[in-house]
Amino acid sequence: MTFESLALNPFILKAINDSGYTEPTPVQAEAIPIVMAGHDLMASAQTGTGKTAAFMLPALHKLSEPPKGPGKGPRILVLSPTRELAQQITAAATKYGKYMRRAKCVSILGGTPYAVQNRLLSGPVDILVATPGRLIDHMQRGKVDFSRLEMLVLDEADRMLDMGFIEDVQLIANATPKSRQTLLFSATLDGKMAQIAKDLLNDPRRVEVASQQDRHESIEQRIHFCDDLGHKGRILDYLLRDTDLKQVIIFTATKRDADLLAGDLFDQGFPAAALHGDMPQGARNRTLTKLRRGEIRVLVATDVAARGIDVAGISHVINFDMPKQAEDYVHRIGRTGRAGATGIAVSLVSHRDGILLKKISSYTGHKIEATVIPGLEPKSRMREAAPRRGSGRDNGRGNNSGKPGKRFSSEPKHAFGHKPKSAGHSGQARNSGASETGFTGPSERRMQERYNTQPAPNRTGEKRKPATRTQRPQRDGWK
Ligand code: AMP
Repeated sequence: MTFESLALNPFILKAINDSGYTEPTPVQAEAIPIVMAGHDLMASAQTGTGKTAAFMLPALHKLSEPPKGPGKGPRILVLSPTRELAQQITAAATKYGKYMRRAKCVSILGGTPYAVQNRLLSGPVDILVATPGRLIDHMQRGKVDFSRLEMLVLDEADRMLDMGFIEDVQLIANATPKSRQTLLFSATLDGKMAQIAKDLLNDPRRVEVASQQDRHESIEQRIHFCDDLGHKGRILDYLLRDTDLKQVIIFTATKRDADLLAGDLFDQGFPAAALHGDMPQGARNRTLTKLRRGEIRVLVATDVAARGIDVAGISHVINFDMPKQAEDYVHRIGRTGRAGATGIAVSLVSHRDGILLKKISSYTGHKIEATVIPGLEPKSRMREAAPRRGSGRDNGRGNNSGKPGKRFSSEPKHAFGHKPKSAGHSGQARNSGASETGFTGPSERRMQERYNTQPAPNRTGEKRKPATRTQRPQRDGWK
């Protein structure tokens, strides 16, 4: 199938051509004809499949025809669970609609000033991309005119449900004309999602592209068993020194840990920054811009903030802390291996992650074998992974001690032992005041205390000195 055969407006085809897309992705090939025919649609497709264009291209096509009624309000409304995803949708609308006269796209996101948004909403709008909470604020103030709305898109509807936005979404949908066309995109379409679709969609067509098993073929998945936080820290240090690692997103369980780890890595000389939901929107935007420009090599993020990030340079994803759900694992690793590139997803797992690992392998249909770094082998191994408790047999996962498998030593409850720094580290490596004497500075000492960071072996197996302020990590191989 070609884009030409989808009968899209020539101006849209020209923009697609500029984007370098040669053919529609499976979700686009299936969804676009359904939407162009005017049907409601529920589609299971995740980020990385080309789902944004699957709804944005037919939405823009609708805009190429004259509006059905008078007014200045939006003709297309896209709801997104997060600001980052909303910004990417807005960027996609601008990219694909750049040759069109009537494709003014406005985004209404939390964390940005009301005054600017009021001004944007008072002018003509064709496409409105919004997070539900802020949109409702504007609706309650009478600032949004839905009288000529033709299409409502719920992107990552499963996430909106998880994040407690579904009532807001229903409220918004009820404020739009009944004649609208409604599209729902979600990772899964069963259970609650089916109920939501029943409430909001009218006789929808269903599209389910590639099963979980078929996805992420471009991503090599690895796991490293870690004895404790110190071991994790040493493996992380080793991974970050890989010259094949262009840019990486490291996931932590909490915002605080994201700040702390980013701060430590930054102090170690890595161009690192944190990204999480407690940061003001301006700071989040600046961090993402730096990431796109390659000025940030290591982004330490939480799930919500990192969702939807689409940066081609992300060669690696590292789960420093494992996600709570298998679905989140799939979303996380999808930040790498984007748009035809290949990527590596590394998970640092502890004994507590055994059940989760099983859930992930049944969700993805793919069992991940453990990888061992020479010199950084785990001392203990997971009980779940051992063939028989106390059998003394090795499970081939790097425990060459010949001793029976035992549980990992448990990690401290609070992974990091000090308060987050108030000064920002959301920028490229600052001059850290390298010690003339070669002594390690306070942050290296903290890092060593926290992670018990012994010098990790380098790739040739030889022991290396820990990074000090005078000895910066290798930075070749990335911009
Ligand atoms: P999405 O799933 O919408 O987040 O899109 C993932 C990536 O695929 C984005 O970088 C898009 O620019 C890219 N993309 C979308 N459609 C196509 C296509 N037909 N061919 C190649 N890349 C595409």
